[in-house]
Amino acid sequence: MSPLNTHRNTIDEIDKELISLLGRRMEAVRTIGAFKGQDEHAPIHDPTREHDLFAFWTAEGEKAGLPGFFLGRLLREILSHSRRDQERHLRPSAHPEAPRFRVGYHGAVGSYAELATDKLLQPRTDGPSDKTPFETFSGALDALEGEEIDYLLLPIENTVSGSIHEVYREITNRGVFLVDEEVWPVQHCLAALPGTRVEALVAVRSDPDAFQQCQRFFRSLVGTKAESWYASAAAAASVVEGGDPTVGAICSPDAARMAGLEILTEEVSDHKDNRTRYVLLSRSAEEVDSRIPAKTSLLLTVNHHHGALAECLQAFAREGLNLSKLESRPLPQRPWEYLFYIDVEGNVQDERMRTALDAMREFTGSLRVLGCYPSRTRGEPTLALPPRRLVGETGELIAPAGESGTTGGSKAATKASVACPTPVASDQLSSLPESGRRSVVRVGEAEIGGDRFTLIAGPCAVESQSQIMKSAELVAEAGALVLRGGAFKPRSSPYSFQGLGKEGLDYLAEAGRTFGLPVVTECLRVEDVPMVAEAADMIQVGARNMQNFELLKVLGRLRQPILLKRGMSATVKELLQAAEYILAGGNHQVVLCERGIRTFETATRSTLDVSSVPVLKELTHLPVIVDPSHAAGRRELVIPLAHAAAAVGADGLIVEAHPVPSEALCDAEQALSPDDLLRLVAGLRPIVEAQGRRL
Ligand code: PEP
Ligand code: MN
Repeated sequence: MSPLNTHRNTIDEIDKELISLLGRRMEAVRTIGAFKGQDEHAPIHDPTREHDLFAFWTAEGEKAGLPGFFLGRLLREILSHSRRDQERHLRPSAHPEAPRFRVGYHGAVGSYAELATDKLLQPRTDGPSDKTPFETFSGALDALEGEEIDYLLLPIENTVSGSIHEVYREITNRGVFLVDEEVWPVQHCLAALPGTRVEALVAVRSDPDAFQQCQRFFRSLVGTKAESWYASAAAAASVVEGGDPTVGAICSPDAARMAGLEILTEEVSDHKDNRTRYVLLSRSAEEVDSRIPAKTSLLLTVNHHHGALAECLQAFAREGLNLSKLESRPLPQRPWEYLFYIDVEGNVQDERMRTALDAMREFTGSLRVLGCYPSRTRGEPTLALPPRRLVGETGELIAPAGESGTTGGSKAATKASVACPTPVASDQLSSLPESGRRSVVRVGEAEIGGDRFTLIAGPCAVESQSQIMKSAELVAEAGALVLRGGAFKPRSSPYSFQGLGKEGLDYLAEAGRTFGLPVVTECLRVEDVPMVAEAADMIQVGARNMQNFELLKVLGRLRQPILLKRGMSATVKELLQAAEYILAGGNHQVVLCERGIRTFETATRSTLDVSSVPVLKELTHLPVIVDPSHAAGRRELVIPLAHAAAAVGADGLIVEAHPVPSEALCDAEQALSPDDLLRLVAGLRPIVEAQGRRL
């Protein structure tokens, strides 16, 4: 045997020992983990113990002649792995045996995303997982929502190229939750078929984010074309498949080696510290044990209150909660309005977090908790400078006791759902707070619940382009502030006119734009929500759908106002509970509508429950309007009932009006004529003014 091989054999023997020692160390870690899992007061981070460990490694390292930075990295990796293993014992859904999960990730086999997937699953299982790569973010999210996979890993931001907006946009509109995160160092190299020279390259393939992170290097390859690929590891594989020596790839060194490419230039990223933050998504939120430092991600829109954003941020400052990220994105179709993404250090179950969220409600149009998960992005100490008392189990900085985001409160908060904690001040999100403050819901330029009494008018159904145009004209002339019109009609008989559907939505939106009126229209099905939301300024939930909870949940994720009509056999309490579904989803812009209930009386289509208005005003901060048209069923009764509604303190009315009532395809008997509408308004004025409001 050559001397070289003898030495290599020695190394192999030592490595074997090292690995077996690491295995033994992990067994000890597990025993401690099981112990911690049983003792709810045992912290997963013991700062003193951490400090001692770092000191011990420093001293032993010095004796062995090993530098601090090297041992520091090693110890951090070991502790990071150990902590994830121990976390398993702190999960409420801890499995006795290792479950097998189906996990998706965006990228190609061998990518950083695939490696990160394994690390993120470690606290959840030590069994194998079925991993599926996806080429598009939306395809991957479809698979998660469609229950084809249990978890999904997506990149969300990078230290060089910033946030990945497509991912933010996609998760905004879906019923998914953030349940974990991971930060992964990214290395890029230029690779090509063996024997290729850099100068010979005509094209280079990679994913758009990688190109962005290597801009400076790529510009130095003058004359070389950039070819966009969905993932850099897939770009590397495609170079081998194509066999073209003039094509290269920017990818990780691992992906290059796996594909069989030769590395032409190492480290081509514009910045040395290039790291990607991945998030793990699931269909349901997961609780984080109070002993693990946690982070909470929020998605919100602010309302029209002066200084609303500052108020929201101050709510966290007052509770001593630290924001680790604030990002804003323009709201499509709402120029100069923004969606805010906020990451806060702290557990959503923590009392202070709940107080802050509660305080913010007054200033937000919508507020959704995207998830609460173990925080893995805090600064990491180095072995050379062991930080005092501030080092966590994995070496990340944690706040001193009493200042961390995870102290106490979590047991008291078990009643709260993880997705959206219930407010501290009152038992329901819809409840009128002690301050008596009432919500104002904005629909386009109109406000419901403010100083003005808001009239919404229009035909029962959109029947044609010219009919809705004429309707919009008469509605605008009468001084109504919002145009109504159904495109999807819930008809008691399947043979009645069902509405024009998508075509009707387009006509309605066009009529609204022409006369400067925001529009409200009904959505019947979950599947139609995106289409209706695009055309309407406000979405109506009809009486028949008041308890369509799946629909209410989806509407809770929107940032658009909702008009929720009372079911015809629903109690006031049930109406408020239905509203609670939308509010709990994070959409605070709900207007309630009394539209008559079923009683033994047959003289009217329904019985207008006038008393529900003052009753609701006692119970909720949400605006309340009245629909006298569907309650009455007859034109002659609409005006007196409308006046009664104003007199008992409704915030507005929704009435049916038609340019030629006798020709209406739907609810003709109750449609007001243009003249009727003017009479209605004239009679309303003194009633509304007597209450100090204006029309
Ligand atoms: C409507 O407003 O068009 C309607 C169908 O009303 P409701 O759901 O109250 O019957
Ligand atoms: Mn109708």
